[in-house]
Amino acid sequence: MEFRSDTFTLPTPEMRDAMFSAQVGDDVFQEDVSINALQEYSAALFGFEAALFCPSGTMTNQIAINVHTRPGDEVICEEGSHVYFYEGGGIAKNSGSQVRLIAGDRGRITAEQIEACINPDDPHKARTRLVSLENTCNRGGGSCYNLSEINRIKTLCETHDLSLHLDGARLMNALIYYSQQDGRPWQEHAKEWGKPFDSISICLSKGLGAPVGSILLGSREFIHQARRVRKVMGGGMRQAGFLAAAAHFALEHQVNRLQEDHNHALLLEKTLLQCSFVQSIMPVETNIVIFELNPEINPPQFIQFMNQNGIKLSSMGGSKIRLVTHLNVSPSEIQQACEILLQFK
Ligand SMILES: *Cc1c(COP(=O)(O)O)cnc(C)c1O
Repeated sequence: MEFRSDTFTLPTPEMRDAMFSAQVGDDVFQEDVSINALQEYSAALFGFEAALFCPSGTMTNQIAINVHTRPGDEVICEEGSHVYFYEGGGIAKNSGSQVRLIAGDRGRITAEQIEACINPDDPHKARTRLVSLENTCNRGGGSCYNLSEINRIKTLCETHDLSLHLDGARLMNALIYYSQQDGRPWQEHAKEWGKPFDSISICLSKGLGAPVGSILLGSREFIHQARRVRKVMGGGMRQAGFLAAAAHFALEHQVNRLQEDHNHALLLEKTLLQCSFVQSIMPVETNIVIFELNPEINPPQFIQFMNQNGIKLSSMGGSKIRLVTHLNVSPSEIQQACEILLQFK
């Protein structure tokens, strides 16, 4: 049972069929019809003018940061955010920008916190240029922002002439969460989430189940610049329409099923609440469960016990453990996993 990440998801037979029959061309010449179709479809979902298909979410984030900033600028983000924590120092290396880090509430930061970090127009200070948010927050245990907070942040960014980027690696999970909360279709939420951001990056290869790829959304001019940066970073692919066809299939057929993953994560949370070896659990909102072991439990020993019982999971450092649910964990496997968790002493 694979709980390390939703990046382990495999293409379904129907997705493989879609890939097999995809029409392709040279995308560096913008002549791959499957990639063009995916880009148009995803831009329209969120009400953006244009989109760019890229090999990874790290690349879409790094391209966006590169287009929004100049060397010496400052990027405001949360201290556990992927763009800072998991992208190999890419902000400094690719764009020569520095970060201003904020400690958030399960990864989420507020307009007030951001406002306090905006530098004055003073030669001693770096030029604040970009705010980068994450939704859902990976290290925040899959937590979701409220759109009302995002809109307050957007107003602040407009006042200070800052760009606003969203690392929406798992944005589709968040949309399903909002949809579950208020009963409106996720497509309506998608339109609303497209409005406040200058750019959004979405992973197609996580819970959505496509084998490879992320999509970057923005204005026509922004995507024109992004295409140039993608080429420089070595991300200009040729007949990658086979991959785009998989991603397109995922967006059309595998978004609503994310609710199952969320239900599974809630079942894991419910079980963990009964386990005496658990110190605390981050409230579960989507498909990520992060919990802390009691101080007397040896984390490697816990992980070994789980591995020996067929459960792969990951350490988040120290005594923090992460479980991620996805389309390749079945309801019966969730039940099994819960039973095994209850067995650990
Ligand atoms: C997975 C992830 C990414 C992108 O990762 P890649 O492996 O490069 O596709 C970006 N942001 C967050 C929050 C992620 O979880």
